[in-house]
Amino acid sequence: MFSYVSHLECPKCGLTHPVDQQINLCTCGSPLLVRYHLNDLKKAWQKSSLTTRPATLWRYHELLPVVDEANIVTLGEGMTPLLPTTRLARELGVREMYVKDEGIIPTGSFKARGAAVGVSKAKELGITDIAMPTNGNAGAAWSTYAARAGMRSTIVMPKAAPFLTRGECAMAGANLYLVNGLISDAGKIVGRAVQKHGWFDASTLKEPYRIEGKKTMGLEIAEQLGWKLPDVILYPTGGGVGIIGIYKALRELQELGWVEGPLPRLVAVQSKGCAPIVRAWQEGKRESVFWEHSETVAFGINVPKALGDFLVLEAVYETDGCAIAVDDRDIIMEQKHLASTEGLFICPEGAATVAAARELRKIGWIKESDTIVVLNTGIGIKYPETIDMHVKTLQPDSDLPETYIG
Ligand SMILES: *Cc1c(COP(=O)(O)O)cnc(C)c1O
Ligand SMILES: [Zn+2]
Repeated sequence: MFSYVSHLECPKCGLTHPVDQQINLCTCGSPLLVRYHLNDLKKAWQKSSLTTRPATLWRYHELLPVVDEANIVTLGEGMTPLLPTTRLARELGVREMYVKDEGIIPTGSFKARGAAVGVSKAKELGITDIAMPTNGNAGAAWSTYAARAGMRSTIVMPKAAPFLTRGECAMAGANLYLVNGLISDAGKIVGRAVQKHGWFDASTLKEPYRIEGKKTMGLEIAEQLGWKLPDVILYPTGGGVGIIGIYKALRELQELGWVEGPLPRLVAVQSKGCAPIVRAWQEGKRESVFWEHSETVAFGINVPKALGDFLVLEAVYETDGCAIAVDDRDIIMEQKHLASTEGLFICPEGAATVAAARELRKIGWIKESDTIVVLNTGIGIKYPETIDMHVKTLQPDSDLPETYIG
């Protein structure tokens, strides 16, 4: 069987829903999770079958919700490099450190994973028009995959979202709008528009299949480390889909018996300018409160209140993880540091996880013996706004470059 998908399940009220109909949230208002026939799959699927499969996220098709292979919409996404950063590991004082580099994926951010699986499943369900609010990267990815699928897309993003992502949506032929406000304002507008026009609402977690795309990051990390899990995984958390997905992936691998031992401690990293999950975790709460006047250079994690906050917090609590907020100044500093010491031009959101790792090592929460994985969720060149440069212009006949300074 191509997919072992079974049904949708509500993590709040337990109600189940079918996977062959267009569904957004549960009747109780909660996001839904995709469930699989894991017992059957356990008998039928071996790790060794993966060795001959292409290096895309579709190599895990049994654990993905698309039933008919013909509905797959792909640009070759997945199996991004898991790069050891030995210089940085030495500097932080940890045994092993890896960057999972999602910058090298179609559309330049890991949003491509959610879009590939979400758009493929939408195609399978006969959806022709999708609409969504975005902080930039999700809109870029979903409009691009919609174009690939021959679907129409409507995207609403804050005026302040990274400029290049606007261009990606425009190039993909999206019905694109800007809003004077935050992603939460864009979300309200989309909510009214889908009612009026009958479009499918593909907003974060109002669409159940995006998590499945993002969970493949967890599957890949496990496979790339030879099915031996790291001790800590740090994730830049906005809507939280990635961390919810990684947790779900690791639980599914446990149930399949493909991994052993305790799960990695999952760390939700946010910016001090928008840290609702961190505040909730510090107060021992299971849900977050809307973060007023949020602001950060790491635009992808500027989400003042996430629909799936309770699932993010569950992932953190259940793995003995933590939640930590970092300063925007440190984010910018780490971004430059990683580019110049490891050759990795990562995005500000990714840099936040490095800043968090440094802080957690300093206070001893991360130990010297730990193997840690940080997620770089996008490519740095998408954010020219955050680059601080002082470059001298040379006169062709009279000037020479100085020797290195410092
Ligand atoms: C969307 C986004 C995030 C946050 O992702 P969630 O899974 O929604 O928390 C992080 N980094 C980048 C670059 C993003 O685009
Ligand atoms: Zn429910």
